[in-house]
Amino acid sequence: MKRLNPIVQITLALTLLGCAVLVTAQLMWNLFPDPDQREAQWRQAHAESAAAQTLFMLERNLLEELGRTLELAVKADARIRSIGIRHADGRLLAQTAAHATQWVVPAEGRSTLSHVLVPIHSHDARWGQLEMAFDAEPAGLLVALGRHPLAVAVCHFALLAGLLYWLYLRRAMVQLDPTAVIPERIRAAYDVMSEGVALLDARGRILLVNSAFHALPGTRWPETVGKKLSALPWLAAGLPADTAQHPWTQVMRTGLTVSGHEVRLGNDAGAGRRLMINCAPIADESGHVRGCIVTFDDVSALQRVNETLSATLAELQASKREIERQNQELERLASQDSLSGCLTRGAGLERGSAALDSARAQGTALSCMLIDIDDFKTVNDTFGHGTGDAVVRLVGNTMQAMLGDQAVISRHGGDEFVAVLPGRDAHACHALADHLRRAIQREGDQEIADDKSPRVTVSIGVAAYDAACMPDLTALIAAADEGLYEAKAQGRNCVRTVPGRTGSGATQSLVQQAT
Ligand code: GH3
Ligand code: MG
Repeated sequence: MKRLNPIVQITLALTLLGCAVLVTAQLMWNLFPDPDQREAQWRQAHAESAAAQTLFMLERNLLEELGRTLELAVKADARIRSIGIRHADGRLLAQTAAHATQWVVPAEGRSTLSHVLVPIHSHDARWGQLEMAFDAEPAGLLVALGRHPLAVAVCHFALLAGLLYWLYLRRAMVQLDPTAVIPERIRAAYDVMSEGVALLDARGRILLVNSAFHALPGTRWPETVGKKLSALPWLAAGLPADTAQHPWTQVMRTGLTVSGHEVRLGNDAGAGRRLMINCAPIADESGHVRGCIVTFDDVSALQRVNETLSATLAELQASKREIERQNQELERLASQDSLSGCLTRGAGLERGSAALDSARAQGTALSCMLIDIDDFKTVNDTFGHGTGDAVVRLVGNTMQAMLGDQAVISRHGGDEFVAVLPGRDAHACHALADHLRRAIQREGDQEIADDKSPRVTVSIGVAAYDAACMPDLTALIAAADEGLYEAKAQGRNCVRTVPGRTGSGATQSLVQQAT
């Protein structure tokens, strides 16, 4: 509901108070007697006097004089319409003109303001009654109330006093208005600012707001000056419940500026609207905080742009991650041999070379195995390419299971595999190669070999990296190939290590025959 202007509120309150005083005075001292009551008393007395006179004349049988007396009485007072003398048996013994039509028998036999009835007694017995009809009573309670002097006095008082109070308060409030102390040029300066500005006194009450403040979402004129900023409903909805957390309360308490306090307004002020509040103290000459200046920036549009940007950025990052993932997948697919699951020849040479460079730089050992499936052509020719493929897959899987985390394993071509093992010298590599050879045979026996399928065996050539005579990985593989050649020549299913070519610690030839 719209609230009344404070001047009107005070005027109404003072006027009502005056009226209440008048009514109280009436109740205590009857300052304004009821004229109807006085009239009723007069009419009753007049009728009783006439009744006494009538009795006197009746007892002397002066009926004619009685009639004339009644006529004179009606003429003498314009308020009396008619008079009748009625015997107890209902007969009218005397009356003025048209009394029968004027007279209305009052309810329950009691006199009213317009129809007064006075019993006439003779010798202690009721003889009859005098009936006197007067002007009609005023119709309705409201009319009666309107005629009452108290009501008239209250109405006059309310109108006059209300007007005087209002005129007086209008002048007085200008003096009391706190904003009156702020020069017009300062207001004009604040009005130029695009942010909403409110000046608060030391108790957080608003002294001044600029026109941009009134343009803030939810603001309703004139609910500002004199009120506490925290009490503005549209703003309170977005503030912390604890008033000590309100930025202006903090400024008043600490004397320090608070900036960047963000407030999200309630629904009635526009759902999701955000205000950025900055608050600075106003101190007197002795440094006491006497109030503060609060600025309000509607940052909703900026916030929306920021949110859109953040969402777009998040989408971009998600796309980037997806592209990276797909690139990795593509790289993996490109560098992985689809049949054996090992690296392709190119990828194996690339990563093996990197391992070799690192070993060379650090002066650590590095060895290489070259593995070739024995009699693979016969496997293909006898049992078909499907079985041949299964054998390639088995060898790849077994190599990865055994050496995966310590070697760079690649399918070098056809039925040939290379494993580059950083940190291992020829002796260790030879032992590992022989384990691998046995493992492949074992796996082959379990998974492939039966009456109709071949035994799977491999020959392995091993060589250790020798920086003096091996410029690159290809040279190392070529050395391992020599070992492989020897293994094939010596009956297959065995490991041969190429002896070292330089230095006293050169690896001696090791032979591990098939078991
Ligand atoms: P050796 O013991 O001397 O190595 O005799 P081998 O029969 O294994 O001879 P070689 O290593 O030269 O044979 C390679 C054969 O491998 C030739 C080719 O038909 C076969 N091969 C190459 N790639 C594949 C493949 O992906 N799948 C199948 N099933 N066979 C392949
Ligand atoms: Mg072969």
